[in-house]
Amino acid sequence: MQVVRERRFQVSSTRMAWGEEAGEVRRFWGGLGLPGLIDVHTHFMPERVLHKVWGYFDANGPLIGGLKWPITYRKQEAERTALLREFGVRAFTAMLYPHKPGMARWLNGWAADFARRTPDCLHTATLYPEPDVETYVREAVEAGARVFKAHVQVGAYDPADERLQQAWGLLAEARIPVVMHCGSGPAPGKHTGPEPIARVLARHPKLRLIVAHMGMPEYEEFLDLAERYDQVRLDTTMTFTDFTEGFMPFPHRALPQLTALGDRILLGSDFPNTPYPYLHQLHALERLGLGQEWLRAVCHDNAANLFGL
Ligand SMILES: [Zn+2]
Repeated sequence: MQVVRERRFQVSSTRMAWGEEAGEVRRFWGGLGLPGLIDVHTHFMPERVLHKVWGYFDANGPLIGGLKWPITYRKQEAERTALLREFGVRAFTAMLYPHKPGMARWLNGWAADFARRTPDCLHTATLYPEPDVETYVREAVEAGARVFKAHVQVGAYDPADERLQQAWGLLAEARIPVVMHCGSGPAPGKHTGPEPIARVLARHPKLRLIVAHMGMPEYEEFLDLAERYDQVRLDTTMTFTDFTEGFMPFPHRALPQLTALGDRILLGSDFPNTPYPYLHQLHALERLGLGQEWLRAVCHDNAANLFGL
């Protein structure tokens, strides 16, 4: 099994020219009869911050579990947005997040400007447990934010922190989705795992939570939460790929749950930060063998419905 897996990884991570890859990505969604892809988990942030993130990956920092992680699309911002368009990604996000207090408001200002000059990006905002969080979350919503990102692992905070309650309530009421990295992969954080977020959902059952990375590695616990709360969704980011299957495999026994929750799974990729080509994420979904209807929903229709696109 391991041998097969490694061989596949070799094949699918062979560096093909970007133009060639774009053609393959377009063939993928064209073959499904889709008008393109919607990717709810792509990273755009101020260049200085993104370069710091890349430096962290290069140095095999502890939050990435000491894994070898070569960034595939290390390019200027304009080239990265152009490539997503070449892939036929109709809409994407600017996942950005603070690792300390006093940073979210500034990131939100940058993200609002990025959304203004990037019409195919869903205006993204972020938050952190701090005294003015409710104020700047409200401001971001009023400025047109359509999705939020919360990173419980990097931010090292409890998502059920009292200071965040008003913000969660506000977002639940405004029906604005929050993509949250709350699983314990690739390395656990102090407040990762299903338990803290279950406390948030108990207080805000209508919060439109999108569990990043399918909750890796606590896949089943997060799928259980999606069964319990009808506004909980999961994004596919990095899941099912050879890279992730190599150290946090998705359990076969959860495939029926994955099928049944087909209207709550959303394509996410982690572009540009993946250690393999974009196309591999799509092939990883396809080889699950859950059928074309499932793929159409996951790669486009579910997000189109959620964001009214
Ligand atoms: Zn990410």
